[in-house]
Amino acid sequence: MPDVEYMLFCCRNLEHTCGFRVQSKTKEEAMEHARAHMSSEQGMTEIPKETERKIEEAIKPVYV
Ligand SMILES: [Zn+2]
Repeated sequence: MPDVEYMLFCCRNLEHTCGFRVQSKTKEEAMEHARAHMSSEQGMTEIPKETERKIEEAIKPVYV
């Protein structure tokens, strides 16, 4: 059984022109980074539910 090495978030899945990527140990951590990135970059003070869902979908586990 492969181990999950890390969770990878690519902003490109949401914003096709954005090259932001972040990797974290857990999905929750990746979500945090993604949220922070969205709010600083898109100037969102609150992340809409829809965006939150897209972020979650964009986070993929990377196996070794
Ligand atoms: Zn971005």
